[in-house]
Amino acid sequence: MPVADYATYCGMLDRARAGRFAYPAVNVTSLTTANAVLKGLAACGSDGIIQVSTGGAAFASGTAVKDMVLGAISIAEHVHRVADRYPIHVALHTDHCQADKLQKFVLPLVEETERRRAAGRPNLFTGHMFDGSALPLQENLDLAVPLRDRFSKSDLVLEIEVGAVGGEEDGVRATAAAKLYTTPEDTLEVARRLKASDGARYLLAATFGNVHGVYQPGHVKLKPSILRDCQRAVAAEFGDASRFYFVFHGGSGSELRDIHEALDYGVVKMNVDTDMQYAFTRAIAGHCFSNYAGVLKVDGDVGDKKAYDPRSYLALAEDAMAARVVQAATDLRSAGMALVAS
Ligand SMILES: [Zn+2]
Repeated sequence: MPVADYATYCGMLDRARAGRFAYPAVNVTSLTTANAVLKGLAACGSDGIIQVSTGGAAFASGTAVKDMVLGAISIAEHVHRVADRYPIHVALHTDHCQADKLQKFVLPLVEETERRRAAGRPNLFTGHMFDGSALPLQENLDLAVPLRDRFSKSDLVLEIEVGAVGGEEDGVRATAAAKLYTTPEDTLEVARRLKASDGARYLLAATFGNVHGVYQPGHVKLKPSILRDCQRAVAAEFGDASRFYFVFHGGSGSELRDIHEALDYGVVKMNVDTDMQYAFTRAIAGHCFSNYAGVLKVDGDVGDKKAYDPRSYLALAEDAMAARVVQAATDLRSAGMALVAS
């Protein structure tokens, strides 16, 4: 199926919230990892989301070039070209973009979509995240509201974050003083400010103790009930139609019961990065350790071309990551829920 357009993506999000499931949103940094997501989603009949971080996009452009806009466009172009070969829908997102990177990352990508639309072509991305969670709430929303107005004109979905996700992603670390638990008052203010600009769909990453990365059991204290309290507060104040579409960041390594509780409270997108990184690398490590004398030219030997051909281990890595995508979709109850081809 082609990459989800705005109407298709809104349909996906509505079905997820009503059906209490969420889409895996998987970070990719290369053709192979993007293909792994598509393969995994197709294998289990799940729609999903492919996303690119600033660092991942810079990497994708080549280590000599390090141009995050160019890398994001390259990956998105690839997904647009191959998505038709898979019987599921994917949306394309960009991940965390802090206020100081908007001019260098998200806005040039929005301009690219604006140019494409003017030429009668589909959007480059389906949605972009602006992460103003390090700012005071009003400053965060002062930036989010005009972004959303601009996004609306091009059918782009805005994802914002209030509170702060702990841990580290892409070299950005939340500070110890960061607000790891959002409050209903914060999210009411989000609804109030974004309601006044009645535009395209937005997604809200509200934090409930989530942490980027994977830690030993007991380190992370998730409180999904915060999301329930936020939904209750916004429904009471602005009506049922104002209920949020939540995003669960730092989903890797979470307990299944916490994930399922979060789905019950309106999480429709769960970002999974760390678990995918491990699945991919684990397959390569397994190949190298079990074909030691093949991948290396030990003691002047010639090695084994079949073992050190990058395709041999990258295909294994693609399969392993695809299998991890199937597990994520199963955990998130999106497996088997793909929109039927129209
Ligand atoms: Zn995140």
